[in-house]
Amino acid sequence: MQVLKFGGTSVANAQNIKKVRDIVAQKPSSDQLIIIFSAISGTTDRLLQCGRLASGGHLEFREILQQLVQDHLNLVKELLPLNNQSSLLSFVVHQFHEVEDICNGILLLNEFSGRTQDRIASFGELISSQVISAFFSSSGIKNEWLDARKLITTDSTFTYAAVNFRKTEENCRQLTALHSGSMLIMPGFIASDEKGNTTTLGRGGSDYTAAIIGAAAGASLVEIWTDVSGMMTADPRVVSNAKAIKEISYHEAMELSHFGARVIYPPTIQPLMDKKIPVWIKNTFAPEDHGTEINATLLMNGNTTRGISSINGIALLSLEGSGMVGIPGFSRRLFETLASHHINVILITQASSEHSICVGVEEHFSAKAKEAIDATFSFEIEKGNVNPLVIEKAMAIIALVGDQMKSHPGISGRMFGVLGRNGVNVRAIAQGSSERNISAVICGADILKALNVLHEEFFEATFKQLNLYVAGTGNVGSKLLGQIFQQQDFLQRHLRVQVRVVGLANSRHMIFSEDGIDLSNWKILLQKGEKMNTDTFIQRMQEKNLRNSIFVDVTANEMVAGTYEFIFPKSISVVACNKIACSSSFEYYTKLKKLSTEFNAQFLFETNVGASLPVIVSLNDLLRSGDNIHTMEAVLSGTLNFVFNNYDGKKSFASVVKQAQDEGYTEPDPRLDLGGTDVMRKILILAREAGQKMEMEDITNNGFLPASCFDGSVDDFYKEMLKHESHFKKLYDEAAAKNCKLKFVAQYSISPLGVGGA
Ligand code: ADP
Ligand code: ASP
Ligand code: MG
Repeated sequence: MQVLKFGGTSVANAQNIKKVRDIVAQKPSSDQLIIIFSAISGTTDRLLQCGRLASGGHLEFREILQQLVQDHLNLVKELLPLNNQSSLLSFVVHQFHEVEDICNGILLLNEFSGRTQDRIASFGELISSQVISAFFSSSGIKNEWLDARKLITTDSTFTYAAVNFRKTEENCRQLTALHSGSMLIMPGFIASDEKGNTTTLGRGGSDYTAAIIGAAAGASLVEIWTDVSGMMTADPRVVSNAKAIKEISYHEAMELSHFGARVIYPPTIQPLMDKKIPVWIKNTFAPEDHGTEINATLLMNGNTTRGISSINGIALLSLEGSGMVGIPGFSRRLFETLASHHINVILITQASSEHSICVGVEEHFSAKAKEAIDATFSFEIEKGNVNPLVIEKAMAIIALVGDQMKSHPGISGRMFGVLGRNGVNVRAIAQGSSERNISAVICGADILKALNVLHEEFFEATFKQLNLYVAGTGNVGSKLLGQIFQQQDFLQRHLRVQVRVVGLANSRHMIFSEDGIDLSNWKILLQKGEKMNTDTFIQRMQEKNLRNSIFVDVTANEMVAGTYEFIFPKSISVVACNKIACSSSFEYYTKLKKLSTEFNAQFLFETNVGASLPVIVSLNDLLRSGDNIHTMEAVLSGTLNFVFNNYDGKKSFASVVKQAQDEGYTEPDPRLDLGGTDVMRKILILAREAGQKMEMEDITNNGFLPASCFDGSVDDFYKEMLKHESHFKKLYDEAAAKNCKLKFVAQYSISPLGVGGA
């Protein structure tokens, strides 16, 4: 006997239900099939919403109900031939009349108890399973519909009923004997208590129905058919590189599901593990895919970690106080209090000093927990031995799972290392002695980044995604974008690095795209973007909180250079060709360096000096290997090189400078190059990188332009240079007479007398 369960999306519409029929039709007829169906996706939510609206006196529930009726009637019309439809159409109408009656009752009584919630929610599965049963019959697949409420007996904990397995097994034996041989179709999720009231097994509980029936009837196999190709290494909606796991142990599957992998409802595994019944998770929309097999074998296939999952909406409760140390009974009282208020504890940590106990619970329990715990410890709180309970909300738990982690040291080191490097603060840690699960409590806002970096570290050893925020699209910026575009494929294929530009700005506009901006079309996209605002750009980058984020400053803007100090604290790296930050005050330069180290971010500015030559990195290497830098002498200005190489006294000096500007050699403001400021910035950066504490004012600049050139605007600058053509010609002729060339040389030397500049 095999038990198959099809989830909400698998039966969401007629097209999908036909896929389900094809899957079922291919099963060998020798094996008896029991097929469990969920409600059509979204139905349970909508039914419960109707109840909630009615209990608040809102008549809008009627519209939602009307839509539900319409959706189900349409489904019947699409699935069944015209002459077979009428009885099913009236069945659907009749069922929803019952729902409406219940809603009217709720409206009148102004009350929506757990019992009524279960009653209303049950209609989703009751209707879907009967519609599909009729469709199967009309497609020539013989089957019988059975009410799961006759099989599964539970207690009366409505909305989350506990199964009476002994009774359920007995029911199953009797009923399946009666129907042996034929295909049975049943609604998932629903059951009944001893008095015959409808109960439900908890949201997502149809998986559990399959497990209960499979275990009770001694199935040889249980298949959970859903909308993904198996249990994945992480939630595919959050981690786009998640991969399907081929094989997983019961324990691992259980840990993953308990920590948020909602592909399988957590209680599902236990009854199947007890009876050693193998479980497959398969994809209704890609039945040929392998899927995941869950079984008892301990896998030794080299993977120490099997998957990661997470739960959001966690509150961390901390009970602290010096009066707790060495005194037995505190934890007992804490947990008894939580249990007596039906507050489920998800994670527990206690430092060995016993000075504090920390527990993770679902956020909505936090107010109740605070009230109850403070009341329990009121005496100690009053005496000052224990502090009132501290609650931190909006937290999340991430869990790394794998049976083999216990025999491999260093996994937790890697886990916390990678979180730390990415600026994810870990607030509490729990690892069971089975070492099958390492859990960490982090801030809810970091969840996306944390899951992705952990996935990269443990499941994509050779794959890395870089998320770039590029500011500046002038000469250098647009070349850089072109280069990234050209190299994207190569980097991905050969180096397994995916470089994406997720934010882009120039002085006018900015755009963002979490999937990466289309670099073949960035100019048009940027032009249509919103108005640029530096603070907003930085803020968005911080809020997006993507892993491996890098801010690339390809501007020459002072305001942009002033933002780095706000970027590093989010563990976002900065790569700048903008020289302003590194040549600003020594205090700011060292502050940035410190921040980047403190927050594990890179601060790279190799192109500040020597363009693409590895000058800064070579200096750093020399220092690291114990050398001291005594002297530097360098021609540092590309602009001045161009100008001196092309000026021969025939064309005007001003026209050669203009040509350098037009060809993209100069800073946006050419006066910075011609006046020597750019060279001063560069030698300052080199001196600082050589370990020298130095400011711009410490540098002597022997400029060669008449001072009047710098009095007005850029236009005046050109005009003034023209006026002084004879000055430039004289410089040139004097050099030529000595068979020399003009150069603007920066010199740095450290001597017993101090530091010399250029
Ligand atoms: P069904 O309606 O078939 O029961 P669910 O929506 O309950 O389906 O569960 C399937 C969904 O679970 C997937 O679409 C996926 O988004 C989510 N999911 C979360 N974690 C995982 C994981 N580790 N592996 C696979 N799916 C996961
Ligand atoms: N229909 C129920 C729910 O939405 C049960 C299920 O789909 O598994 O929670
Ligand atoms: Mg489900």
